[in-house]
Amino acid sequence: MALATFGTCFAGFGCGVAAISAQRCWQRNPQPTRCVSPSDPHSQNHQRIAKCNCGQLNVTVTGPDPERISLCHCNLCQKQSGNVFAVQARFPKEQVKIEGTSTVWKLTKDEADKLEYRNCVSLGGGGSFHFCPRCGSTVWYMADADTARIGVKIGCFTDPAFPPPKLSGFEDYCHPWALETASLAVQHLK
Ligand SMILES: [Zn+2]
Ligand SMILES: [Zn+2]
Repeated sequence: MALATFGTCFAGFGCGVAAISAQRCWQRNPQPTRCVSPSDPHSQNHQRIAKCNCGQLNVTVTGPDPERISLCHCNLCQKQSGNVFAVQARFPKEQVKIEGTSTVWKLTKDEADKLEYRNCVSLGGGGSFHFCPRCGSTVWYMADADTARIGVKIGCFTDPAFPPPKLSGFEDYCHPWALETASLAVQHLK
């Protein structure tokens, strides 16, 4: 079995988190080049690039993996991602380089409080969300209460080895099946 060949950490990082995500990825999609990050994720030189669907809006992050990686089930995150929950990570500004054009959706805390649906922006004190004006992907954001960091929607990295969330919120709005997708009785698309 290929997994045993690579020991506890498939990617060779000596990192349990990376090992879990990389092994799961390997099991589903036996193409190692898609799973292995190009460098040690704990190093100062480790680099990832988040891109919108059309590719013109890019966020390059260089350095260790972030401390804050969150999963949110709130209705705003559902609407924004077009999915049943959203996952994002915040990186110190000095680790981040942004290229390309974005349109910003600015939402103040007062505006967020008046929305008819529950949302994490209200709790976080407002924020600015940057999406590609051509293809619509929301790639990055900044929380008004945390301007020292840039938030990145981790789906834009398309990196199955990205570490899993460390925080989760708004579970009352969770689609009950959403965290059990591996056990769903579904037909698998090729
Ligand atoms: Zn785009
Ligand atoms: Zn949210």
